[in-house]
Amino acid sequence: MSGLGRETMNNIREQIEFDVLFVGGGPASLAGAIHLMKLAKSRGLDLEVALIEKGANIGAHELSGAVLNPIALKELIPNYREEGCPVERDVRGDEFYFLTGTRHHEVPFVPKYMHNEGFHIISLSKFVSWLGRIAEGLGVNVFPGFAGKEVLYGEDDRTVIGVRTGDKGVGKDNTSKANFEAGIDILAKVTLFGEGPRGSLLQAISNKLHIFEGKMPQVFETGIKEVIQLPETNYFSDSRGNDIHTFGYPLGLNTHGGGFIYEMKENRVSLGLVVGLSYQDPLLDLYEEFIRFKRHPFINELIKGGRVIEQGARTIITGGYYTMPKLAVDGGLFVGGSASMLNAPALKGIHTSMKSGMLAAEAIVESFNKGGDFTQESLGYYHQLFENSWLKKEIYMGRNFTQAVSKKGLIKFLHVGAQYLTGGRGIFDKMPLDDDSKSLNPLKRVDSYRTARYEKQAYDGTLFVDKLTGVYLSKTQHREDQPCHLIVHDPDLCMNECFETYGCPCTRFCPGNVYELEVDDNTHEKRLKLNPSNCLHCKTCDIKDPYGNITWTCPEGGDGPGYTIA
Ligand code: SF4
Repeated sequence: MSGLGRETMNNIREQIEFDVLFVGGGPASLAGAIHLMKLAKSRGLDLEVALIEKGANIGAHELSGAVLNPIALKELIPNYREEGCPVERDVRGDEFYFLTGTRHHEVPFVPKYMHNEGFHIISLSKFVSWLGRIAEGLGVNVFPGFAGKEVLYGEDDRTVIGVRTGDKGVGKDNTSKANFEAGIDILAKVTLFGEGPRGSLLQAISNKLHIFEGKMPQVFETGIKEVIQLPETNYFSDSRGNDIHTFGYPLGLNTHGGGFIYEMKENRVSLGLVVGLSYQDPLLDLYEEFIRFKRHPFINELIKGGRVIEQGARTIITGGYYTMPKLAVDGGLFVGGSASMLNAPALKGIHTSMKSGMLAAEAIVESFNKGGDFTQESLGYYHQLFENSWLKKEIYMGRNFTQAVSKKGLIKFLHVGAQYLTGGRGIFDKMPLDDDSKSLNPLKRVDSYRTARYEKQAYDGTLFVDKLTGVYLSKTQHREDQPCHLIVHDPDLCMNECFETYGCPCTRFCPGNVYELEVDDNTHEKRLKLNPSNCLHCKTCDIKDPYGNITWTCPEGGDGPGYTIA
């Protein structure tokens, strides 16, 4: 690495140069960085590699179910158990239930893609933190607390040459505080973007280089998840299955999604509800649905006597093969959730993300071996490797899956059945989402739903916690005196058109209670109040706002959730 100095208005903006830069400290980037270091060593290449992560620690922003198919991990670290991989539990058996309002019915067969026996239940934050230590041990320069704020391009204005990290110490009023630190320009011959779903830098690249041109629209889901401490004697003490999935209640058959409960060690469970963001009812409240799920008699029985010890939320991309971007541009590659690398029918994205990072690493080594050709053509070898891998087979098999489960009513079962019978082709290939949900804004007018959807919840503060307690349990922190990272472009649109048409759905789809509608007692004037410090970085608002009026930007590096066991 080498460092240079460049003057900015307020300070010196440092430049650091590396051979390869990974943006984002999730499983895709970390597996990629580890594989790259090992490959480089075996080929006699001496590479300077860096990885930046916006969370305060590696793993702080990682949240997932999570059942890990170890296929990629075995390739990356064959003796992972001996190396201390933090496995919570091995999956003993799978159970799959259809929930009605008060009852549960076990589905007599678990779809083959959801057979998880022998796979590992993990805490993604612990797992990623372990990968981070391995990467560091191999010589990767790991920088947590640094958010990539801007993509840097070369003189041709299209070759990616690195990223600029965000400034620190900027006040709410955009002025520099005494502790101001200018962001750094991290330059690299190759930059890998592994920001996860709805990455800000990926969107910027997409706007400039049109990497999603000709692709089907992405499909997003939001998951809310908790880790619950159970009493010593609990459902899992002698249960046959410790990997439980549900569908039906509370979402019904018109909104796709479902629930999961996985057994962790030390009498803990990981419990969550995932909701497809193509839902139409503007009164749907993601958090209330999550609580309804927990209150279902069957689920309640599994977690009775428990105490929530961590909570969080994040968005997942499930659009599949036909929503994948171009995998390479000049100087840049896309891995993991950024590149739609998820096996939707299996409900798994960790092993697919890891493998994508590893394939990208192989392409990079090849480019160095070719004498340093980092053009799109050369880095595009990653695409070839992908096409010939088990990863492609998995993702291609699920190419129409989310679109099939998004069908409304009983026809959904016909489409899902066809998926299994035809190896993923379904009734027709390249299936769009349900007709009503094709547009980016599938919400219907609020007046067509004017009924009280939810009863007032009684939270006991232990097993059932309200949104704000949930934010507290996510250990989310933001420095208060900084510019708001949630940009509401036109507040008048919120208080007039959006209020009238959709009843301000941001106050319901945000699981962090960031958006609040305030009405002045005297003047009756309405105002949208923002609590950006509560933000869980799930990105739901950036996706689900019906007018595209909200843009999520990255706050100061190190801010956000502080997951440790999620
Ligand atoms: Fe998620 Fe947006 Fe709410 Fe933050 S403000 S928690 S990104 S919906």
